[in-house]
Amino acid sequence: MTNGAGAAAAPNAAVLAAARRIREQGDSAPRLARDPVNRAMIRNWTEALGDADPRYPELAPPAMVQVWTMHGLHGQRAADDPLGAMTAVLDEVGYTSVVATDCEQSYHRYLVPGEQLAVRTRLTDVVGPKRTALGEGWFVTTVSTWSVGAEPVAEMMFRVLKFRPPAPSAVPEPLTAPDPPEPPTLPTPPRNVLRPTVTRDTEYFWAGTSAGELRVWRCGGCGLLRHPPGPMCPRCGATRPEYLVASGLGAVYSFVVHHHPPVPGRELPFVVALVELAEGVRVLGELRGVEPSEVRVGLPVEIDFDRVDDELTLPAWRPR
Ligand code: ZN
Repeated sequence: MTNGAGAAAAPNAAVLAAARRIREQGDSAPRLARDPVNRAMIRNWTEALGDADPRYPELAPPAMVQVWTMHGLHGQRAADDPLGAMTAVLDEVGYTSVVATDCEQSYHRYLVPGEQLAVRTRLTDVVGPKRTALGEGWFVTTVSTWSVGAEPVAEMMFRVLKFRPPAPSAVPEPLTAPDPPEPPTLPTPPRNVLRPTVTRDTEYFWAGTSAGELRVWRCGGCGLLRHPPGPMCPRCGATRPEYLVASGLGAVYSFVVHHHPPVPGRELPFVVALVELAEGVRVLGELRGVEPSEVRVGLPVEIDFDRVDDELTLPAWRPR
């Protein structure tokens, strides 16, 4: 690990000292579930997940184990909760953001309605500071054990990254390889991109990108093509929009190279191109797969689809 400037050494030492103290406290006191394992909650869970296994609700799905001891909407962590204590220490020195990175559960047996669970948690590990894609932070690992009476029935290893969020106006530092030995690596963070507002006028377009189609608004009255879409034809006034599926071929009509400010989900610099389609309308999108210095007006491009998640696929462009 690298502490860099001497000023950082003192907070780091304080974090490590606090981690040692909390770890040495061992398990928290057992915290009782608010209610025994019960059929109503099992039904809610299995119906929400669409799990029609006929053994439920006379047994509880093992993966529900954490449900039984949740704090509830207005609950508060116990004073001896080690994750709460470690979180407070890291908040104090500026590592205020959190993301869960790993969770492993082990189940010893099925639970049945009527059983009363309790959970204990201990801190096992605090590692850092590490540089990650989200910012500099500490990996905090706890292990929780659920028991019925004296019998352990399940365990969970839970790891979070407590990180210092980059200043909003700062250009993120380039990522560099962490010092050996390799720390636990962070799974690819969920992509935080700017999301379009989908309206009745634009939903056909976003449904199209999800389906791998570039759809262009076409007037149901006179056949005019236009983009971006709208409710009414500017030529004939008809309000019967249709669409055609474009070839996806075009050429750069204009473009910008975006250097600043940082944009969620994008690596700087990136190119935004206004592309004139073979069909005649112009469509914006990120132009990828080409050095910004190589982009020129007239560059032949084709559509590419950037699938962000199940809900969103962004149109993008690539050279052809
Ligand atoms: Zn029209």
